[in-house]
Amino acid sequence: MSSSRSFLYPVLFLSLFLTACTSSPMARRQVVLYSEADMAQQGIQAYQQMREQMPISENIRQTDYARCVTNYVVSALDENQRGDYLWEVTVFENEQANAFALPGGKMGIYTGLLNIATNQHQLAAVMAHEVGHVLAHHSNERASQSALRNIGRAVAQIAGVSSTTMEIIDYGTELGLFLPFNRRQESEADQIGIMLMAKAGFDPQESITLWQNMAANGGARRPELLSTHPAPSTRMADLNSLLPAAEAVWVSARARGVVPDCQPPS
Ligand SMILES: [Zn+2]
Repeated sequence: MSSSRSFLYPVLFLSLFLTACTSSPMARRQVVLYSEADMAQQGIQAYQQMREQMPISENIRQTDYARCVTNYVVSALDENQRGDYLWEVTVFENEQANAFALPGGKMGIYTGLLNIATNQHQLAAVMAHEVGHVLAHHSNERASQSALRNIGRAVAQIAGVSSTTMEIIDYGTELGLFLPFNRRQESEADQIGIMLMAKAGFDPQESITLWQNMAANGGARRPELLSTHPAPSTRMADLNSLLPAAEAVWVSARARGVVPDCQPPS
């Protein structure tokens, strides 16, 4: 390996990090390479594709319910958090217990989730968690990480690193670097979510019930080691520690007259 090539590695990375570091709402340093506008455009495009390719619920009561809950959650965002995006939600016919929110304000709920999030508070807990990922720029961070990883691989290949070393780099990035990082993202989304649902007038205690239901129903489908979700016990402990603050926010939301009454479809 020539010295000029091995020199390339740190310089390239350093310049990327210097231009792209920012802070998440939880004051964690993060690397984001893309603009908000780019991410929003990607999110909106992905949402349109999903709407074209996946079956959409035709049950008006399901749709009304999903809109009612997500409207309360979005209404609780500060103006700068809400941006000028057209926030909207689609209910997809899918047995998985899943939901998402994309940069650009597009959200989705799978019908399977409605069997596990059994009341408006629990559905709000999921949606506020998903919106938390958006507020904390997690998609941008993930996209940036995989771009950086690809650059890292390309540079390592140019530098003539052996294929065994490449495998170790890949393995290390998957398990050592990416996994704790994603868990941190999940915890951040939990923290943002519990406060957001409370501000939207939903009972934050129900977020704990929800994640318990999720864990009991195989919400974490992969083995714990490879799961991107925090261990249920860690998650419950973290949420419990936030509960007093979230309940105070909930009480003041109710005092302001923010009392959602979204009727689940029977
Ligand atoms: Zn999440």
